[in-house]
Amino acid sequence: MPSETFADVLAANEAYTQHFGLAGLEATAAKGLAVLTCIDSRIEPLDMLGLAPGDAKILRNAGARVTDDVLRTLVLASYLLGVDRAMIVAHTDCRMAAGDEDDIHAAMDEAGGPDTRSLAFLVTDDQEATVREDVQRVRSWPYLTRLQVGGFLYDVHTGRLTQLC
Ligand SMILES: [Zn+2]
Repeated sequence: MPSETFADVLAANEAYTQHFGLAGLEATAAKGLAVLTCIDSRIEPLDMLGLAPGDAKILRNAGARVTDDVLRTLVLASYLLGVDRAMIVAHTDCRMAAGDEDDIHAAMDEAGGPDTRSLAFLVTDDQEATVREDVQRVRSWPYLTRLQVGGFLYDVHTGRLTQLC
């Protein structure tokens, strides 16, 4: 039973099905690529890399951090979904690089949220160093030794991607 909350996007989906052109697309990544980036809504992972649906596996979380779940997903993508290279893409003006954990907990409190001090939001005060560490974490992961990994910074004001490592 459709709810009002999602009425706009369900209506858009109905229109989408009228000209749907992705039937029969393979589930493997056509360009052998996985991209981990932030949830920031200013980032268009496919467009910024000249990709089309079917080309790459897109992973997103707050701050584009290499978590256990990202490692789990990359193992699957590497062995079962045709992925042999991965980009870790942090971005400028990221909330996860704009203060320490205490700042996030305080902001959460000010926004009327719950006490989140038992959560680690994985913020950083040195974004480039964090990207390098996360890339190294993937490179060191025993299940991912055949994956090529690069670290990048995306500028949300110019659209430019810079490779860090
Ligand atoms: Zn971000």
